[in-house]
Amino acid sequence: MDAPLVIVGTGFAGYALLRALRQRDRHREIHLIGAGEASAYAKDQFPAGLAHRRDADELVIATAEQMAYRFEATITPHRRVLAIDPASRVLRTDNPAQPEQIWSQLVLATGVESLRPANVRGSGAASVLTVGSLAEYAYLRSELAGRGRVAVVGGGVPGCELAESLKRGGCEVTLLESDPHLLGGSVPTLCAERIADALAAAGVRIRTEDGVQRIDQGMDELHVTMLGGKPLAVDVVVAALGTRPRVQLARAAGLDVAAGIVVDAALRTSAEAIHAVGGCAEFEGRVFEFGEDIDSCAQVLADVLAGHGARMRWKARVRRLNLECCAVAICKPPPVAGEWHESATARGVRALFHDRTGALRGFALVGDPAGESGSLLSRVAR
Ligand SMILES: Cc1cc2nc3c(=O)[nH]c(=O)nc-3n(C[C@H](O)[C@H](O)[C@H](O)COP(=O)(O)OP(=O)(O)OC[C@H]3O[C@@H](n4cnc5c(N)ncnc54)[C@H](O)[C@@H]3O)c2cc1C
Repeated sequence: MDAPLVIVGTGFAGYALLRALRQRDRHREIHLIGAGEASAYAKDQFPAGLAHRRDADELVIATAEQMAYRFEATITPHRRVLAIDPASRVLRTDNPAQPEQIWSQLVLATGVESLRPANVRGSGAASVLTVGSLAEYAYLRSELAGRGRVAVVGGGVPGCELAESLKRGGCEVTLLESDPHLLGGSVPTLCAERIADALAAAGVRIRTEDGVQRIDQGMDELHVTMLGGKPLAVDVVVAALGTRPRVQLARAAGLDVAAGIVVDAALRTSAEAIHAVGGCAEFEGRVFEFGEDIDSCAQVLADVLAGHGARMRWKARVRRLNLECCAVAICKPPPVAGEWHESATARGVRALFHDRTGALRGFALVGDPAGESGSLLSRVAR
């Protein structure tokens, strides 16, 4: 019998690929290995889940058993892949009873890991939580039981969404950002100020230009010491500083790795018969941040593995922030030289990014203008 196609990772990308493969081939033997429970869920539901105080179980779309049955695959949860050997096409897991697994084709879908604040000292520094998986979501919910003072570290998109959702869920929230503005790098100044105003009006306390220096464990609370010196006593500190691709397995196996595992337009890594999809991969110098891009790379890879000549291409995407206090739509410009032009009215802010040739390459819309995102997207040059 042929060795199976093995997918390492049962996150959004691993399961998107499984679905796409089964649309093309009902018979191929497919084995997924996941380090966690391997339930199917969507991380973009975490903010709404926190706002409505939903337990982690309520966010599960399907259990590993249900996914295995529905898509006729072998799914092994709670199993970590420790090493891969591209030459012999064997991987090693932490299962002492059967540590080795052979593959015919291997797909790395190892995803992303949450960033933690650097250089924070103090006895409570290790207590900083992140919300990058369902297990971490469940842990945060349990830490919040009966307690409600939260410091959110990081005022980017994930921090703003997390702060507002925790506030809506009944917490007292302080959002800490070391830069002068929230959402630095994602949107220009007027947009950032309007979003900060809306969050403040919704009850989120915002401290900008104030980095976390120390976190110390008190009797039953955490003492956060800020650069500005003003202390903050909270029950829980959550970091929302973004993510980075999880590349350790690939790097140790000698695959090309930059920020992510480097793939070509057919999602091939530098090693024969090994592909990568989702948050762990990097294509044309960019990592996969959006669900829609991950879904389309899973479709391309399913075609490639089925022997068709599909190719990955980036498309302009709109990210609508999970915020109730104001509508925000962002189409992030590519890293090219250009300028933002902002116009503000009482009803919102419209910011357009044009490159040096005058072509529209991205935008940020806050308030009523967010309704124009669909028509503007069709005008964005790639
Ligand atoms: C709070 C939050 C909100 C978000 N909101 C949005 C949104 O609104 N829109 C959007 O487009 N995106 C959003 N994202 C990003 C989106 O969720 C990610 O892009 C997506 O989850 C990445 O999917 P993935 O499968 O590549 O990685 P992951 O979901 O990280 O899955 C990776 C899987 O690999 C497993 N794994 C890793 N290493 C090993 C190993 N050695 N052995 C076995 N298994 C392993 C892990 O256990 C995990 O199951 C959000 C993310 C978060 C955290």
